[in-house]
Amino acid sequence: MLIGGERIYLDHAATTPVADEVVTAMLPFLSEHWGNPSSPHGRGRAARQAIDDARDRLAAVLGCAARELTFTSGGTEADNLALRGVLQRWGAERGRHVVVSSVEHEAVLATAAALQAYGDAELTVVGCDGSGRVDPERLAAAVRRDTVLVSLMLANNEIGTVQQVATAARMARAANPQVLVHSDAVQALGRLPLRPADLGVDLLSASAHKCYGPKGCGLLYARWGTHLTAQLEGGGQERGRRSGTENVAAIAGFAVAAELVEHEREHEAPRQAGLRDSLEAAVVAGARGVRIAAADAERLPNLSALLVSGASSEALVAGLDLLGVEVSSGSACSSGAAQRSHVLEAVGEDPADTALVRVSLGRGSTPAQVAEAAAAIVSAVARSTAEPAAAPTARPRKVHSGR
Ligand code: PLP
Repeated sequence: MLIGGERIYLDHAATTPVADEVVTAMLPFLSEHWGNPSSPHGRGRAARQAIDDARDRLAAVLGCAARELTFTSGGTEADNLALRGVLQRWGAERGRHVVVSSVEHEAVLATAAALQAYGDAELTVVGCDGSGRVDPERLAAAVRRDTVLVSLMLANNEIGTVQQVATAARMARAANPQVLVHSDAVQALGRLPLRPADLGVDLLSASAHKCYGPKGCGLLYARWGTHLTAQLEGGGQERGRRSGTENVAAIAGFAVAAELVEHEREHEAPRQAGLRDSLEAAVVAGARGVRIAAADAERLPNLSALLVSGASSEALVAGLDLLGVEVSSGSACSSGAAQRSHVLEAVGEDPADTALVRVSLGRGSTPAQVAEAAAAIVSAVARSTAEPAAAPTARPRKVHSGR
């Protein structure tokens, strides 16, 4: 039985519920304060003030200067702006070589591959160990005289592995002092300490909807003095770095979301890690053939990637959905259909033979939910490995709306 018949949402790495405080902060900019921040009159100035205020607050969260932050439409655009912007600005002068890791999100990997396909970049993809860890030494060894950018994510969205970004940045720069270092920190905000200066990176991407903010809003941190070419031309907003009328409500919401999640991180991260550990212990004890991906690595506190041999990710995720437990297979394209996971391949698993069930916790996750979810996972794994075609019986569920 699930708790009160409510569905259990354990897919916070995909997106998070928007916090009440965030909705409250956003609403005025969808109602009375609907001005264009570029307008010179009072209504415009109110909108501009909201953006300035949000930028200051996000800069305080990240320990950087407000002028180092550019608002974007999300993590994907921030990653694209970092890679394309650096290549376009520096490619001809410094070289077109780019180094990325094999476990990057598609927003980095596909962008780098597209730049290479159009002849704008030459790409080196550095592999990882069986837990998804990229060796900073290997990364630095790939840096050449013509390397313009190194991109290494802070935490992986499929298996949660945390990378040694600070060490990698230092070593990459030792190999070539001109190299710029980017980190996709989309999964890290509110879950790990996140100060670009401490990481020693020049560029860093973040996204609001992964930390209880709205979708379609993110930012790119660019260390002051880091030049990159704008990818959207137009009205010259965001100091010319990203044209387009700003999404004022979402930006105001992002700042509140980031403050809240950073404020609670000290107690939420260990609390969620404890819940994750109890879920993993219950699943491993109850289901045969389940392994925990990256178990020996530093991981995101809220994420568990369960590897099930001889099962299908889609069948398991669909089966759990029918049981009222919402998790994911870790990798999905925008149509919702599953793709082969490049991360599973990178860690040496065969995605055709091994299912990945990603369970990701959030601030609304409770011990009772986790216990229920573990029992459901044990039952779904038993069914999927015994009789792959059978699906658990569906029961009507209310939607769980906890934050
Ligand atoms: N980078 C990582 C690591 C992610 O997990 C995601 C989203 O899943 C993105 C980038 C893309 O962010 P957005 O959904 O804001 O475009």
